[in-house]
Amino acid sequence: MTFLSSLGKASRSAPLASKLFLLGTLSGGSIVAYSDSNTEANKKEQPKKKKVVVLGTGWAGISFLKDLDITSYDVQVVSPQNYFAFTPLLPSVTCGTVEARSIVESVRNITKKKNGEIELWEADCVKIDPANNKVHCRPVFKDDPEASQEFSLKYDYLIVAVGAQVNTFGTPGVLENCHFLKEVEDAQRIRRGVIDCFEKAILPGLTEEQRRRNLHFVIVGGGPTGVEFAAELHDFIQEDITKIYPSVKDLVKITLIQSGDHILNSFDERISSFAEQKFLRDGIVVQTGMRVVSVSDKDISVKIKSSGEVVSVPHGLIVWSTGVGTRPVISDLMEQVDQGGRRALATNEWLLVKGCENVFAVGDCASIAQRKIMGDIANIFKAADVDNSGTLTMEELQDVVDDILVRYPQVDLYLKSKHMRNITDLLADSEGNARKEVDIEAFKSALSGVDSQMKTLPATAQVAAQQGSYLAKCFNTMEHCKEHPEGPKRFRTGGHHQFRPFQYKHFGQFAPLGGDQAAAELPGDWVSAGRSTQWLWYSVYASKQVSWRTRALVVSDWTRRYIFGRDSSRI
Ligand code: FAD
Ligand code: MG
Repeated sequence: MTFLSSLGKASRSAPLASKLFLLGTLSGGSIVAYSDSNTEANKKEQPKKKKVVVLGTGWAGISFLKDLDITSYDVQVVSPQNYFAFTPLLPSVTCGTVEARSIVESVRNITKKKNGEIELWEADCVKIDPANNKVHCRPVFKDDPEASQEFSLKYDYLIVAVGAQVNTFGTPGVLENCHFLKEVEDAQRIRRGVIDCFEKAILPGLTEEQRRRNLHFVIVGGGPTGVEFAAELHDFIQEDITKIYPSVKDLVKITLIQSGDHILNSFDERISSFAEQKFLRDGIVVQTGMRVVSVSDKDISVKIKSSGEVVSVPHGLIVWSTGVGTRPVISDLMEQVDQGGRRALATNEWLLVKGCENVFAVGDCASIAQRKIMGDIANIFKAADVDNSGTLTMEELQDVVDDILVRYPQVDLYLKSKHMRNITDLLADSEGNARKEVDIEAFKSALSGVDSQMKTLPATAQVAAQQGSYLAKCFNTMEHCKEHPEGPKRFRTGGHHQFRPFQYKHFGQFAPLGGDQAAAELPGDWVSAGRSTQWLWYSVYASKQVSWRTRALVVSDWTRRYIFGRDSSRI
């Protein structure tokens, strides 16, 4: 076996002349002649592989690459990071609960499982040129003239998965004076920043007011990231830091500023009030209904929405975590394809960028523009009314129900919201009796409320990973589905769509709240909070790691934290 596999390797890497020699030595000239001509024939017969360029190695990009069958594609990846970062654990990195290297995996390690046939360029894509099927890229080594030369890549298909950037909403002073929590480096900077605040606060010669200012930690944004960071910081300070800086332990203050009325407002309200009460007990000050108007190196100015009053509060460190904005390369592409002014690239339900033929966008940089059923209602009716009677019998409707449910997922959501079982319930008359047939007007009025259920998907890792994986599966079955389309009926033009549209499956969401307590919202309106939920969080996040190496490191970091606490060295 070993001999044969080394022979295989040798023959793959050796030049043609040595291959001839090798085979000739082993088996004689006739086989050599056969083998050689056969290879040449194969070369001619094999169609040229389509070039796929992937931009980004985050959740969406990596899940696409992991699931793509690369035997049919020539794949090139462009990303300024040669690693994948498990972002849900970034808040844990800010306080040393988990080390930075435990949550990253080298992209080359991930792609080497594909026999190294994926090429990776450590560069930023600076311009997408859909008219010429090209992307222009700039290597990350800006200070090295040799290694910073721009290059361009041609593609047959482009997968845009560059994520989003922080959103400052144009607030003055935010870029210069706030920390962000988006990248691994941000988390490492925050960790150093927190320790710096304590080291500064204990220096001799400072007034109590100055010490208090240094130890005032402000978090702007009461979404899951801001809340989790506040909880992590509170635990870090209470469990580890105050033991080594006892003289200033009573001067520490953590404030969470939220513009809405509640924190965690994307969660069930039972979870947001659980979180608010827990923070109250922990002494984390939650200020809702406030909007930050400016930030300087020493103060943060906040407007109280109800009174319009602006107050200025001294701070030692601010973490800004208020949603996502658009990367310049995406804004530029949107201008080119007449989508200017949007936050994210609009795609159709198959993740194809609107206005392009071969550019797909997945993850935080994109948003699906779901088609309204009312825009197609006449065509649906016409396609279903096979006997052209001008009315739809329930049998005629049954034949297209599945296609309608797949093509317009809002119908299913609407039925659930009205506690109905199927479309025929929707078509019942005003007294609730089932009808035998409906005309176009009755059909329109029954479905008129359905589009109100259209939802924009959240910018989360769950959505990004499912989209990457969905797209890879479409690419893997591209040729097969050309001949045998598997999508729903095309109501407007006839025939069938090549693929089923992307459908998001929500597996629930977690909010770790510190003190080994977490809250979770799981499918089926199931809400739980407390210590057992934290254990569920540990097991889910360990299982979701991208490799066995990171899984082992993360679990050992959690164990280390339990035994020895977190390290507070400023390195
Ligand atoms: P990203 O993962 O951001 O990846 C973008 C990739 O594109 C990166 O590799 C980047 O380097 C690369 N890139 C950037 N610019 C360019 C360019 N010009 N050219 C080429 N490549 C480029 N979601 C959850 O579902 N659950 C959670 O618990 C959760 N917690 C989070 C905690 C934090 C602190 C943060 C910041 C996010 C969290 N999210 C969570 C959200 C989740 O991380 C994002 O929704 C997800 O990362 C989006 O995936 P993406 O692939 O679109 O973008
Ligand atoms: Mg009919």
